[in-house]
Amino acid sequence: MAGKKRHPGGDTLAARAAAWIEQHVSDMVALEGELTRRNAVGPANGGPGEAEKANFLEAWLLDHGFGPVTRLVADDNGVQRPNLLLVVPGIDRSRRIWFMSHLDVVPPGDLSLWKSDPFQVRVEGDKLVGRGVEDNQQGIVASVFALRALLELGIQPRCDIGLLFVADEETGSTFGVRWLLENHPEVFLPGDEFVVPDAGNEDGSQIEVAEKTILWLRFRTVGKQVHASTPQLGKNALVAGAHLVTKLRSLYERFEDRDPLFMPPMSTFEATRHDANVPNINTIPGEDIFYMDCRILPGIPVEVVLAQVKGICEEVERSHRVVCGVDVVQREDAAPPTPVGAMIVADLARAVRSVYGVDARARGIGGGTVAGHLRRKGFHAVVWARQDETAHQPNEYVWIPNLVGDAKVFAHLMAPEPA
Ligand SMILES: [Zn+2]
Repeated sequence: MAGKKRHPGGDTLAARAAAWIEQHVSDMVALEGELTRRNAVGPANGGPGEAEKANFLEAWLLDHGFGPVTRLVADDNGVQRPNLLLVVPGIDRSRRIWFMSHLDVVPPGDLSLWKSDPFQVRVEGDKLVGRGVEDNQQGIVASVFALRALLELGIQPRCDIGLLFVADEETGSTFGVRWLLENHPEVFLPGDEFVVPDAGNEDGSQIEVAEKTILWLRFRTVGKQVHASTPQLGKNALVAGAHLVTKLRSLYERFEDRDPLFMPPMSTFEATRHDANVPNINTIPGEDIFYMDCRILPGIPVEVVLAQVKGICEEVERSHRVVCGVDVVQREDAAPPTPVGAMIVADLARAVRSVYGVDARARGIGGGTVAGHLRRKGFHAVVWARQDETAHQPNEYVWIPNLVGDAKVFAHLMAPEPA
């Protein structure tokens, strides 16, 4: 075909796959329905786990032209937590791109907030409504139909393509991708790249490559409780604690690095929850407890932040003659970011532009994602989908055009480039 001019979106292999996907929208909707019907709430959330859903999906894949499916099952105190994977060889055997989505869902929550049965897909115009239709079946169905389009059309992928369906994403991945990385490292090869279609934004312009460190702190100030009419006999823990809250604002100046990948581009240190102290107005409180949520740019060690925090506590101890203790309630150190210039970022951005006409950019987010487990092992991983982020909400939905469009984006990523 050298020298021959192509029309944009014309007869490329990706365009043929896109056309095939367009003709199979009702099959995609049907698969969403079958997956939703099989409750895959994890045991930690009071559910049965992913076994029934995984059994169904495995059989469906074998019935629809996919080759052998590998099943790796983690034991969760007697409950089976299956992880499924398959690989289709590509033209370039030296590169492999995985599409990783998760089988489990969160519980429906308060049923009175749902307009219909959460485990039965309801079609509402261009939307499908039900638990898991977006999180994470949009990713499952889009990646499955992208690869199926290529198989049905006899198009060999540009490189090896893996589909990975993991358990236990919603409660920490102990029996999902973390378990796989620890117990079956042979499944992955150095240099494997990952697309994780488990979060995104409304126009599909966000390719998540980095995350901030999450650090939650509990501050306890101890003074001396007395009658409010005789403050000179006590030590007001609330006043000292309030002083501490305002002094902690100086963390913003102490850590003023900026990284334009993130919005906001700096580390954040926000006082949040405050525990109740004395029940009555005429008592000087002897104890004050509040909490802080810190989101720290990758590259700033938590120890350095904690040392500054302790220094601030000591200043307040001296000025208010109280004792200030600080405990770490939660800490999740940021994984090393996937480089903005990574090949998978550029390839995905090209596919998004081709299908949706949107300029997708690498971005960082304020919280940890499942991709962090992969990045910690040195893999490049991008989190992307086009969705409204209704995950975990009542009446969770997916736009059918996004389900179809994301499948086309993935097919674009899988198909060989025009010659
Ligand atoms: Zn999810």
